[in-house]
Amino acid sequence: MEIVAIALLLLFLGDFFSTFFYHIPEHVFGKLHLSTHHAGQQSFRHYAVLSPSTSVLLDGLSGALPYILLAPLLGIISPLGVVLGLVLGQAHVWWRHTNALGWQTPEVVRDWCDRTGIVTPEQHWLHHQRTSIAYGDIFTCLDAPGRQWLRWLRWLRRSRELSAIKTTLGLGSRVDG
Ligand SMILES: [Zn+2]
Ligand SMILES: [Zn+2]
Repeated sequence: MEIVAIALLLLFLGDFFSTFFYHIPEHVFGKLHLSTHHAGQQSFRHYAVLSPSTSVLLDGLSGALPYILLAPLLGIISPLGVVLGLVLGQAHVWWRHTNALGWQTPEVVRDWCDRTGIVTPEQHWLHHQRTSIAYGDIFTCLDAPGRQWLRWLRWLRRSRELSAIKTTLGLGSRVDG
């Protein structure tokens, strides 16, 4: 029981930190994830298996970093739970990109995932097509707060850009004294 609980905790916390501190900020402020994971139609190997390209490798490792950092911490409680979590996490990376192979998830599996809140390949594919939806790589409950976080970070970027333009034009508020 403890093994399963730690595996789930690793996956949930890993997905949470990866989504909120890498994936979404990277969509707003970065280019790496967009250019590697969202640029045109790519192969299953490109999405799900680390390819020799440095940028794909860097994007994959950055997304996996929270899991890697959490592993030794949760390993104090249950090393086997951590191993199970990492294996399931890697299996989900492969599975959620099987749409690139032309596979379709059987309805019974899709129903089970809908009930348990697990992201299916079809749901993840929506994110590949439209970058403002379908957040959370493994857990669908991260989608709604993720979209909120995306909106807020976009607002932050716009206001920063606006103040940079104002400064360039010399319109910034100045206190003369
Ligand atoms: Zn993907
Ligand atoms: Zn993305």
